[in-house]
Amino acid sequence: MSGTLTEQTMTGGCQCGAVRYEASGPPLEIYVCHCTECRKQSASAFGISVIVHSTGVRLVHGTPVRWSRLADSGRTVDCFFCPECGSRLWHGDKERAETISIKGGSLDEPPEITSAVHIWTNSKLAGVTIPDQATRFCKEPE
Ligand SMILES: [Zn+2]
Ligand SMILES: [Zn+2]
Repeated sequence: MSGTLTEQTMTGGCQCGAVRYEASGPPLEIYVCHCTECRKQSASAFGISVIVHSTGVRLVHGTPVRWSRLADSGRTVDCFFCPECGSRLWHGDKERAETISIKGGSLDEPPEITSAVHIWTNSKLAGVTIPDQATRFCKEPE
């Protein structure tokens, strides 16, 4: 992997600390997703997806467990979480997919979401404000 001046290592883990990981940054893209699945997954108002190259992701401690679900698109979403505390860590199988989606709240240093792309805004909770300049899609970008 070629190093650049902007390369950075991001660290993260679950709520209890049993699973820890590192990922090479900067992120390829950051999405804030207002879909109902992300709301369930995060048990909060929206999900934060930090897209990184799978090859840059290293497990530092513990082993996450996989739960898979079928998305509306027909694709299978592989969801990885801590077997101890249940915190969701990332979506996508890093052994098979080129990129995975790290769940933003699991990062030690919170991701900068000022310029994140907002998706599924048609199911956004009332009271959640999207920055005026943010790129947004009412569903998923084509
Ligand atoms: Zn945990
Ligand atoms: Zn979503």
